[in-house]
Formats: sequence, structure tokens, C-alpha cells
Amino acid sequence: MPELPIYLDNNATTPCDPRVLEAMMPYFTSVFGNAASRHHSFGWKAEDAVDVARQQVASLIGAEPQEIVFTSGATEANNLAIKGVFEMYAGKGNHMITTRIEHKAVLDTCTHIEKLGGEVTYISVDKNGRVNLEELEAAIRPGTILIAVMYANNETGTVMQVKEVSDIARRHNVLFFTDAAQAIGKIPVNVQRDGIDLLSLSAHKMYGPKGVGALYVRRKNPRVRLTAQMDGGGHERGYRSGTLNVPGIVGLGKAAELCAREMDAEADRLGKLRDKLREALLQLEATTLNGDRVHVLPHVTNISFNYVEGKMLMLGFNRDLAVSSGSACTSASLEPSYVLKALGIPDEQAHSSFRFALGRFTTEEEVDFAIEKVKETVEKLRETSEIWKMYRKGVDLSEIW
Ligand SMILES: *Cc1c(COP(=O)(O)O)cnc(C)c1O
Repeated sequence: MPELPIYLDNNATTPCDPRVLEAMMPYFTSVFGNAASRHHSFGWKAEDAVDVARQQVASLIGAEPQEIVFTSGATEANNLAIKGVFEMYAGKGNHMITTRIEHKAVLDTCTHIEKLGGEVTYISVDKNGRVNLEELEAAIRPGTILIAVMYANNETGTVMQVKEVSDIARRHNVLFFTDAAQAIGKIPVNVQRDGIDLLSLSAHKMYGPKGVGALYVRRKNPRVRLTAQMDGGGHERGYRSGTLNVPGIVGLGKAAELCAREMDAEADRLGKLRDKLREALLQLEATTLNGDRVHVLPHVTNISFNYVEGKMLMLGFNRDLAVSSGSACTSASLEPSYVLKALGIPDEQAHSSFRFALGRFTTEEEVDFAIEKVKETVEKLRETSEIWKMYRKGVDLSEIW
């Protein structure tokens, strides 16, 4: 019996790897210098540590160290990319293109851009959650300055056609930004191969600490320029002022190094565990897979358990299993996830959807337990469900459900 509760919510955040924590520790106490202190060894040691981390992060994504701007996370990196391009390229135009299934850190920033007088086109996705490429290309116009398409979606794990999108962007001379918070460290990402101009990542999605991330900003072919969103001492080549979070940055660097080294083996291990979980759960009657079966992160699956009430299902297993549901708590009510809605999934089905995101510390024993727990809970709920009885009798529930 595994230790309970079991954490299967690694897309929300990952635990910090003990090896990452160990690398960070000296930078809180003995090596505490300000990386911007140029005149003594305390500063130099901090700066050296930041340089190593910059190299580690750059190397994970095929970038040059000078192209990495450290931030407080992917949210800040997304803000800097979108607002920074909007201001810097105002002379070229004010139109941006993104998708309906981006993270709120992109969508809410786009709303802000619209309030400032910018125009944003939101591209639809197909039933597997991949971006509609024809619609995307057709949306490009003379004043288009940015295309923002995430690398992999946080709710479904679906991996986007990044190379195709960047080819379109290049052809039309438009910058391409990708929120890669979920993909980095899980699958190979390379800014050269993929033709990426701007990319955001976050340490706490890849076994590093919370509160630190980075923005990749391409330096040549083309050279991308941004208007800073944080003014101050001109840190990070003027793109992001503020005393560097040295322990956090060291942690992000170490996390990147570990991911680079262990990604292939880990993707293989997690892919097998995820497949086991997915296929076992899909064997239950009236279950459906949300997202793409092939173009998907190796550790993620999102499944709808139809004709059970999502809230009851969650209550039935959430003492033992930590997962996310297809319902988002907004102020007072439960709203179906806008991502699942964009895939054309009906509201009731979205409410009974669950995301299982395995991680570096997930064991096979935990996956086996999760399978049994979910199956048992679904079956028990269906035993007493009127809707389920009607469905089994062949009643058309599309009106009621
Ligand atoms: C988690 C996440 C973010 C936000 O990252 P923070 O570092 O927590 O600000 C942005 N985009 C995606 C796709 C994410 O999964």
C-alpha cells in the first residue's frame, strides 16, 4: 500500500527535487552576495553561480546564455514577452494572434493589451486541442506583430504544432512566442529547431523552486527587442530590473541540468505508467479521452467519466488522490474549463473530467492504487445514479445531461 495521499497533480506544480534544494542551500547563507555587486568577491561568487545557471537553462533549450532573462516565473515571462513586444513594435502594428486555450497568464495579458487599444485574434483548436493552422495563417495581416501559441497545454497535455506555427510566423515576418512552461524538461524543446523567438518557462513545473522562471529572447535571425516592464537598476540587460533571486536561479539551473540528463529515460518510464493508467481508466464504460492521444506530454492524461457528477467523484477520492478537475472555481460557481469547452466538450462532460499528471516521484504502486480508487469510486457512484440507469436503458440524455 503506497503512502497516502498520492500526488497526481504535477501540472499544477512539482515538488522541488532534493538535489535542487541541496544546490540552492549555500546561496541563502554563506554565499549570499548580490550578483550586481561588482567590487568584491561576495558579488562575484553570486554572479558566477548565476552564470552557471544561465548556461544550464540555455543548454536545455538550445539557446545562448545571453538570451536568457530570469524572471519570477512563467507568468511574469509571459507578461514581459507580450507587453514588451506590444510596446516595442508599436510602430509596426498593434495586432496579435493567440489561441483560445492558452494559460490565463497569456489570455489575461492579451485582455490588457486590448484595453490599451491593441487587437487580438483568438484562434480555435480542433477536437484534440491542436491549433487550427489555416485559421492562424489567415488571421495574419500587415499590422500583426506577435503570434503566441503554447508549446503544450496544461489541462490536456496536448503538444501543439510548434514547428508548423513557427514556419508560418517566419513566412510572414511575425515574431513567434511560446509559453513552454509545461513542455520544458519533459520533452525535447530546441529554439533553433523549433524556430522560436520568445519562450517562457517556470522552475516549479520542472522540479525546481517556486517564484523563479525565465524568458528566452532571441538575439539573432531575427534580433528580438522588448520594452522592459519592470524599471529599476537595469538588471538582465535592462529587460528585467530587480536584485537577482540567486538561490532560486541556482535552483532553476540545477533543475534544468537534471531534466536535460534524465528527460529521455524519465519520459519513457512515465509514458508507460501513463499508458497503463489511461488504458485502465478508459476500460470503464462511458469514459472518453480529452486531448490528443499521440501528440501529448508523456506524463499527462485527461479523462471524462460520463454520467457521474464530477463533484461527487472528486469528493469520493480526493482524500487519497490529488488531481485536478475540469471545473474551475470562479467566485461563487463551478464553471466548466474553458480549455475543454474550446475542444467542443459539453459542459457536463467537462465537469466530470479529471487531469492525471504523473511526475518524477510517481511510482507504479501509486498508479495501481489510483486506478483501483478511481474505478471503485466511479462504479459506486453509478450504482445509485438515476442518470446512469437511464443511460443504460438507452434513454437519449442529450437534452437532460
Ligand atoms: C504554470 C503555468 C504558468 C504560470 O507559471 P508561474 O511560474 O506559476 O507563474 C504559465 N503557463 C503555463 C502553461 C503554466 O502551466
